[in-house]
Amino acid sequence: MTAWTKTLTWLLWLLPLAAPAVEVTFRPVADGVYAFVGETGARSPRNEGLNANLGLVVTPAGAVLIDSGATFQGARQIHEAVRRITPQPVRWVINTGGQDHRWLGNGYFQAQGAELIAHAAGQADMANRGNDHLLALRAALGPLADGTVPTLPTRWLAGPDEPLMLGGVVFQFKHRGGAHTPGDLLVWLPQQRVLFAGDTVYVDRMLGVLPVSHTGRWLKTFEVIEQLDPQVLVPGHGAVTNLATARADTLAYLQALRAHMKQAVDNGTDISAAVKSFNTAPFLRLLNAAELMPGNASRTYLELERE
Ligand SMILES: [Zn+2]
Repeated sequence: MTAWTKTLTWLLWLLPLAAPAVEVTFRPVADGVYAFVGETGARSPRNEGLNANLGLVVTPAGAVLIDSGATFQGARQIHEAVRRITPQPVRWVINTGGQDHRWLGNGYFQAQGAELIAHAAGQADMANRGNDHLLALRAALGPLADGTVPTLPTRWLAGPDEPLMLGGVVFQFKHRGGAHTPGDLLVWLPQQRVLFAGDTVYVDRMLGVLPVSHTGRWLKTFEVIEQLDPQVLVPGHGAVTNLATARADTLAYLQALRAHMKQAVDNGTDISAAVKSFNTAPFLRLLNAAELMPGNASRTYLELERE
């Protein structure tokens, strides 16, 4: 064999290792607190639908996972990543919202013995959209979605402010009626001043206003984030960040969009003219902005029309 064919043989031998498998790595953001920052693009076989951020809190009595990923197989990758951080079992899983990558990995972790926790305001949304999410994931991921069964949480938080001691660590859960999805939950660690904001904060990329979103209550939720004044802010999408960047990439857009649509509705401007006249220029720097802004704008118009 020549050196070249040797190299080629070696490369071919490596090929199966390059098959799609998302690389999940938790990085420390505070003592005992970790974040995985997912890709900011679309769901793909390469990211296994984990195009979102996750959190991990290691307590003396077990690990707390914040969001379980989009699929059964993805959840297994998440579990492997947890094992590289701690030998503690995952005893609790928090779902911060009703989007697929927040909870469709629940089935895997339930089978490992974890308790699944979410806000009761998200229950109907999860039940209604779980199977649709799964169909979309099958289309995007193919066999990588196999094994996934939408599995609802087993413990529902009811109030706007729910403190919970998990493994001796203080967690505070805050819900203000939903934002991106009806169950959107802030996970606040007061001792570490770390906030896992879930889909209430997007940085680097454009946020999504869905038919189940509510931009008015989203702003109410953001008021809580301002009050908490986190030292570390883990957004739902984009790099681990701070309040100033969250204001620039999430709050400023929501405020501008609502102000514009409120005026359009008050003036009797029709929806297509209102969508076209929104000044997109300040936000085009955000990834996915061009594709998402027209839908965001029309859904916000419809919301303000109902107000
Ligand atoms: Zn999301």
